[in-house]
Amino acid sequence: MESALTARDRVGVQDFVLLENFTSEAAFIENLRKRFKENLIYTYIGSVLVSVNPYKDLEIYTKNHMERYRGVNFYEVSPHIYAVADNSYRSMRTERKDQCILISGESGAGKTEASKKILQYYAFTCPASEQVQTIKDRLLQSNPVLEAFGNAKTLRNDNSSRFGKYMDIQFDFKGAPVGGHIINYLLEKSRVVHQNHGERNFHIFYQLIEGGEEDLLRALGLERNPQQYQYLVKGNCPKVSSINDRSDWKMVRKALTVIGFNEDEVEELLNIIASVLHLGNVQYGGEEGNVCITSDTQIKYLARLLGVNGAVLTEALTHKKIIAKGEELMSPLNLEQASSARDALSKAVYGRTFTWLVNKINASLTYTDDSHKNYSVIGLLDIYGFEVFQHNSFEQFCINYCNEKLQQLFIELTLKSEQEEYEAEGITWEPEKFKGIISILDEECLRPGDASDLTFLEKLEDTVGGHAHFVTHKLADAKTRKVMGRDEFRLLHYAGEVNYNVNGFLDKNNDLLFRNLKEVMCMSENKILNQCFDREELSDKKRPETAATQFKASLAKLMEILMSKEPSYIRCIKPNDSKQAGRFDEVLIRHQVKYLGLMENLRVRRAGFAYRRRYEVFLQRYKSLCPDTWPNWQGKLADGVATLVKHLGYKPEEYKLGRSKIFIRFPKTLFATEEALETR
Ligand code: ATP
Ligand code: MG
Repeated sequence: MESALTARDRVGVQDFVLLENFTSEAAFIENLRKRFKENLIYTYIGSVLVSVNPYKDLEIYTKNHMERYRGVNFYEVSPHIYAVADNSYRSMRTERKDQCILISGESGAGKTEASKKILQYYAFTCPASEQVQTIKDRLLQSNPVLEAFGNAKTLRNDNSSRFGKYMDIQFDFKGAPVGGHIINYLLEKSRVVHQNHGERNFHIFYQLIEGGEEDLLRALGLERNPQQYQYLVKGNCPKVSSINDRSDWKMVRKALTVIGFNEDEVEELLNIIASVLHLGNVQYGGEEGNVCITSDTQIKYLARLLGVNGAVLTEALTHKKIIAKGEELMSPLNLEQASSARDALSKAVYGRTFTWLVNKINASLTYTDDSHKNYSVIGLLDIYGFEVFQHNSFEQFCINYCNEKLQQLFIELTLKSEQEEYEAEGITWEPEKFKGIISILDEECLRPGDASDLTFLEKLEDTVGGHAHFVTHKLADAKTRKVMGRDEFRLLHYAGEVNYNVNGFLDKNNDLLFRNLKEVMCMSENKILNQCFDREELSDKKRPETAATQFKASLAKLMEILMSKEPSYIRCIKPNDSKQAGRFDEVLIRHQVKYLGLMENLRVRRAGFAYRRRYEVFLQRYKSLCPDTWPNWQGKLADGVATLVKHLGYKPEEYKLGRSKIFIRFPKTLFATEEALETR
C-alpha cells in the first residue's frame, strides 16, 4: 500500500484548521488556490470536506485510490472524498449509527459527481456475495437512468440535476450493501415543454433520437433529427460538445436491463417518451371557439403509443368538460387554452413516468432476504444547486428555497455557536419567510375570481413588503428599480440576490390537468401509464395540494430524516462560470466561501479543541516519535498516549485526555508533531 503523503500532497495545508492566519479570508482563498493549481481539489475544515470542481479528469478515482483509503484514518492520507465515504462507513459499523452525507454547492459545483464517486467507492470496497453484487450493480446503474430522465443541459451545467435526490444505501451486519431506497423531489417538469435559449430538454429525448435503432425509431414514428420536434427546439441547442447522446443511449439501455426492466417495460417506457414528442407537435388551427387539430398524423401515433382512443383524445385536447345544471357539457377551448392543455398533459405524463421510474428502481433495490431486515443506512443527498438566471421563475424559487433550507440545517448542526453572528452579518434569511410567500401563493391559487400572477405580487408587497430581504419594483430604490421588472420580486438569498418573475407562478403551483385529459389517461392500455393515472383520482372531490405545498412538506420530511442521522458534509465550490479546467476565478470563489459559511466553520473548529483523535489512531501515527511507545505500546492506550505526549513536550493546557480520545486545543501543537514526523 502506498501510505506516506508525498511532498506535492502537502502544498498549502490539507486542513484549514492548520492555517497560521486562520481568520484571514485571503489566506483561506490562497490556500485553496495553491492546492487547486496543483490539482489538489480537496481540503478539510476539520471533518468537513471542501471540494473545488477541477473540470477535468484527475485520475484520482482509480481502484488503487480506493484501496488506499479503505479502512484508513482521515489524517493519514491526503484529503479525498473516499476518506469521507470511508469514515462514514466505519462510523456506521463501529457506532451502529445511521449516517448521511450532505453534499451542497451551487449548480455545477460537482455535487452529483461527488455522490457518484461515493457510491462507486462503496460498491468497490464493501464485501460482496453474489446477491450483493446484483444490488451493487443496480445501485450503480440507477444513476445513468435517473440522469437520463431527470438531468438536462442548462446554462450553468451541461448535466444539471433537475430533481432532488436522497438515496439510502442499506448495509447488513457484515457491512455489505444489501439494498437501497431513493426519494425524489420536485422534478422541473416545465422543461418538457419549454427550454430557455442555450438549454436543452431532458437528456433522454436526444439519446433516443440520436441513439435509437432504426427499427425502434420507425416503430415510434420518430425521425432522427431533434430539430423536428417543437419540444426540442426552444433552446436552439440540439448538441452539446461535452455530451455524446449516442453512447449515452447505449449505456442507459443497458442500465435499464440491469435494473430489471423486461423488453415489454422498455417498450412501454419508450412509447411514453416518444408520445411526449408527438404531443409537442400537435398543432392547433381553426377559428376561435372552434379549434381543431390540423394534422392527424400525431394523433394516430399518440393513440397507438399511449394506448388510447384517438377520437376521445382529440376531443380531450380541444374541449373541456364542464358540469352545468347537473349535466356534462363539452365546451370548446380557445387556441391558447388548447395548447396549454396539451402542454399540461405532456408535463403530467412525463412527471408521473419519472416518479414511476423511481418506484421501479426502488423495487429492484429491495432486498427480500429476511435475515437482512436489520440493516444500517448511509444516506446520500444530492439536490439541484442554488441557481440564478437572467429569467427566474417558480422552479428557481423552489430550488433556491430547498438550498436555503439545507444551508439552515448546516448552520444549525455545525455552526450553532456562531449562528447569532452569522445572522447578524445578514448572511442567512430565515426560511420562515419562504413559507409566508408559499402560503400567499396558495391563497391566490385557491381564490376564485380575479386572482392572477400580478395580484399575487401585490399581496406579497402587502404582507412581506417590509422585510429587508424582499423587494419589488414598487418598493425598490431608484437604482434597484432600474434592474427590476414590474412583474418581479427580488429575494436576498444566503447565496445572493435573485429576481423572480411572477409570470406563470399560479399555473405552475396549481399544476392542473383538465379532467377529461385525466379520464383519457386512466383508460390507457400502456401499463406504466395505467399505474400513473389512477381512477380514484377522478372521484376524489378534494382539491389536490399545490406544488409548492407538497414540496414544502417533502422537504420538512427530508430534514427529519437527515436530523436522525449522523451527518458528514461535502461543500462543493465552482471555480469559474465557463466550465473551464484550471481557471480559478477569485471573485466567484470568495463569494462561495462567504455564503457557504466556511470561515465561520473554520472559526468554530478552531475555538474548541480543534482536534480529536481516537487513542489507537493517535498512537499508531506518532508512536515512532517516542522510544517508550515504539515499536508497540503494551499497556492501556490512554497511558500510551499520555507517555507519548509528555515525551513530545505537550503542555497541560494544550490537550485533554478523554475516555477514548485525545483532544488537542491548538492546531500548531499537532502541526509541530506532524513536522517532527516528517523530519524524523
Ligand atoms: P447541479 O446543481 O446543476 O446538478 P452539480 O453540483 O450536481 O450541479 P455536477 O453535475 O456534479 O454539478 O458537475 C458538473 C460538471 O463538472 C460535471 O459534469 C463534470 O464535467 C465536472 N466535474 C464535477 N466534479 C468533478 C470531478 N471531481 N472531477 C472532474 N470533473 C468534475
Ligand atoms: Mg447535480
